[in-house]
Amino acid sequence: MEWTDETIAKLRTLWAEGLSTAEIGRRLNISKNAVVGKAHRLNLPARPSPIRRLEGDATPRQAAPKRTQGPTLPPLAASIGAPMPALRAIMPAAKAAPRATPCCWPIGEPGKPSFHFCNAAAAAGKPYCEEHAAIAYVRVRDKREDAA
Ligand SMILES: [Zn+2]
Repeated sequence: MEWTDETIAKLRTLWAEGLSTAEIGRRLNISKNAVVGKAHRLNLPARPSPIRRLEGDATPRQAAPKRTQGPTLPPLAASIGAPMPALRAIMPAAKAAPRATPCCWPIGEPGKPSFHFCNAAAAAGKPYCEEHAAIAYVRVRDKREDAA
């Protein structure tokens, strides 16, 4: 490697720009060691520490990856949103059940020919007509009072 005035001038310029010795060597088509040796002989000023550390580091360390908030958001949103679909799945089933129209109140004794259901128009949301629903309600209440 012969150092001409031109390459020395380039070296000084690139050195002053703060390029790494490896980068300067690449641009001058010489080895990094040649750059370092020549810079030393030229008494070029010491490099700014960050570049110096980067180019001379035997164990290059990658900058610690910055933690982004992104990945944690979707799971959070999912856990918050989860209970809602579950509730919605239960509600329609509870509403759909009491859609019977005729009263299914048993009249007579089961097994006998006279046995039949009331079959009157059931009250809205109830399996019985108004009359039988009232009876059913009283019976349930009586049972509770007996139990208490
Ligand atoms: Zn009835």
